Amino acid sequence: MSLHFKTVIQLAAGLANKEFSSVELTQHFLDRIATLDTQYNSFITVTPELALAQAKIADQRIAKGDTTVLTGIPIAQKDIFCTKDVKTTCGSKMLDNFIAPYNATVIEKFNAAGAIMLGKTNMDEFAMGSSNQTSYYGPVRNPWDPERVPGGSSGGAVAALAAGFAPLSTGTDTGGSIRQPAAYCNLTGLKPTYGVVSRFGMIAFASSLDQAGPLARTAEDCAIMLNCMAGFDERDSTSLEMPQTDYTAHLNDSLHGIKIGLPKEFFGNDADPAIMDLIHAVAKQYEKLGAELVEISLPNIGLSIPTYYVIAPAEASSNLARYDGVRYGYRCSNPKDLEDMYKRTRGEGFGAEVKRRIMIGTYVSSATHYDAFYLKAQKVRQLISQDYQVAFKQVDVILSPTVPNTAFKIGELMDDPIKMYLSDLYTAGTNLAGLPGLSAPAGFLKDLPVGFQLIGNYFSEAKLFNMAHQYQQHTTWHTQTPEAL
Ligand code: GLN
Repeated sequence: MSLHFKTVIQLAAGLANKEFSSVELTQHFLDRIATLDTQYNSFITVTPELALAQAKIADQRIAKGDTTVLTGIPIAQKDIFCTKDVKTTCGSKMLDNFIAPYNATVIEKFNAAGAIMLGKTNMDEFAMGSSNQTSYYGPVRNPWDPERVPGGSSGGAVAALAAGFAPLSTGTDTGGSIRQPAAYCNLTGLKPTYGVVSRFGMIAFASSLDQAGPLARTAEDCAIMLNCMAGFDERDSTSLEMPQTDYTAHLNDSLHGIKIGLPKEFFGNDADPAIMDLIHAVAKQYEKLGAELVEISLPNIGLSIPTYYVIAPAEASSNLARYDGVRYGYRCSNPKDLEDMYKRTRGEGFGAEVKRRIMIGTYVSSATHYDAFYLKAQKVRQLISQDYQVAFKQVDVILSPTVPNTAFKIGELMDDPIKMYLSDLYTAGTNLAGLPGLSAPAGFLKDLPVGFQLIGNYFSEAKLFNMAHQYQQHTTWHTQTPEAL
């Protein structure tokens, strides 16, 4: 198999056996990015000097035996994480000139492990979107079909993996932005329990929903990444104090007796039968591995999209108030006065989708509409969370498709935001409840990847990795790569 589609375990073995150095490995990926990424647009910024300097240090660490499994392994970082002395844009014109003065905790942790940052990946503006088409830096193309979107908002992160530009990527997920693009690009990705990964230095979209997580080719690689990313951080007030967990420790546990819930609301008549056939095949495979299938109900799950699209914009409108042209980021030229500066800076600096969210969010959280929309949405959020807790009394995990459809054509849903919002049908509920969710490859429909989702109770990440790893030990979907690459 070519070097650029190898897993971390394989690459770490190659480094340890001196088949290649980290400098050579890094150069290999940088060369591929330089020659091929003009076709996909997966990176906003590539950092070759920094990457090669880090790789040199990693090679010294390897020579001394002072390593972690990630030492010398290249990684693509989503451009939502602040990176010291490196441009950090969040996909927005508003931050096109922003050089972060410090590193996000996630970046610090990968640096400490000796991973190599190749650059910063493209994304929907402020992570708002399901297709990567709202980025100020232009759409990303799906390596499985360049006419199609890679999903979003972590679109560059997944395109970089699918095109063999990096073995690992970070993503963030507010309503589905790790899992939905993972499904569209035949990758594995996990949104952890809220609070497991520090949000310090991760540009805020909707603070009560945002979580960073791993994207990779296999569940095992994702578990390795989460080992590095997770942990208490006193600089994030929502970070959870919990004992250090080894997310790889249970990968090989038997699935005998595991109960998998199939929510009847997701397996009903509205679902696409071709996608559901693949999900039923996943369920069958789990049965073969010893799991038991149980029909369950999540009675309020149908309300998750309207609830999400009240709460997320409300939080976003507050978080994005900081971009005022005063402190950092874009400022309009020659403002007449202070008010003109605020208005034009925000009018010129934000794209259409971000403005739509700010307007919705300001409306639903305004004094006159707060009770009818925001407060109501918070109550429904509780009901949705309770549904999951009732379900987890009956079952260990919940199975569903990740997305109701496969990757759509670039341009297709741009004039129909409501339809675009429905991409999060299966994923947004877990963010509202703060639960972990994982997406992994389930097969192909007309040559386009389809993903399945596993949702677990709080802190069940190791169980989700175990289940996905066992599935991947018995199937080959996740090993497929785009023919042209
Ligand atoms: N598609 C959703 C949105 O546009 C989720 C985005 C995300 O998870 N960052 O809000």
